[in-house]
Amino acid sequence: MRLIMQTFITAALAIAALAHPAAVAAQLRVVTTTTDLAALTREVGGDRVQVDALARGYQDPHFVEAKPSFILLVNRADLLVVVGREMEIGWLPPLVTNSRNAKIQPGAAGYLDASLNVRILEIPTGQITRAMGDVHPSGNPHYWLDPDNGRRIAQAIRDKLSELSPNDRAYFAQRHTDFDRRLTEAQQRWDAALAPHKGTKIVTYHRSWPNFADRFGLTVIGYVEPKPGIPASTSHLIELIAEMKRQQVTIIMVEPYFDKKTPDSIARETGAIVLEMPPSVGGVPEATDYIKLFDYDVNLLVAAVKKATGK
Ligand SMILES: [Zn+2]
Repeated sequence: MRLIMQTFITAALAIAALAHPAAVAAQLRVVTTTTDLAALTREVGGDRVQVDALARGYQDPHFVEAKPSFILLVNRADLLVVVGREMEIGWLPPLVTNSRNAKIQPGAAGYLDASLNVRILEIPTGQITRAMGDVHPSGNPHYWLDPDNGRRIAQAIRDKLSELSPNDRAYFAQRHTDFDRRLTEAQQRWDAALAPHKGTKIVTYHRSWPNFADRFGLTVIGYVEPKPGIPASTSHLIELIAEMKRQQVTIIMVEPYFDKKTPDSIARETGAIVLEMPPSVGGVPEATDYIKLFDYDVNLLVAAVKKATGK
């Protein structure tokens, strides 16, 4: 299998070299691991960049099946933007190594870890290892779900694109300013929509939403997964259901890539509403860019809270 893959890579890279002459060199070729990073890169990069995301927005970003086409994309990239905090550790490192692209190796100029200048929550203090099953050993990697972190990611992308393509510095700066203004306006809209529902208690499937909850004043009282990446045991579910009844929790937020069976059974026991909330751009057709992702999620959540509370 290894040999077949190696042969495939060699052939594929030879074809890639033929198919992509230097004529398209004017655009920076950016590959991002997720659709959210791709959306932010498009906001800042405009038509001076060509952006491809590896994971689809409806996939679990911890567990992405690496397709052969990913190798070609990474091989040709001028810049690779990653979520970091070990989000992609299960699937990205072999791609980067096999890409034979020195520009985008960790530490090189064409490698951007988007987590370096953002607010990271849930940084573990005790000894937690991946061997114990926890897929968040370096703090919570779902940090893009706070729009203030989106703002910081966009800044980091602007700076990196300007470094790689200095002639376009003013263009990137202008696009970034415009995005920042639209994001600020949108944040006022989201804050106003959620302000009446501050303190709403929710349960989420995975720990995807701490930044979102913190930003909008929601209280996460429990998780369907006892630990990130670990399936629920019966005893965990019994405790969770009891706690939800005690605290009168009415919302269970579930990422689109998880099975609804367990959340649905919790909902039957508690009367809570199961809400399929996309955490990424492209998770639903409506979430076509970073701002529209929050528009969708905020509207969905507000409608569900109103329905659950009758207010
Ligand atoms: Zn996670």
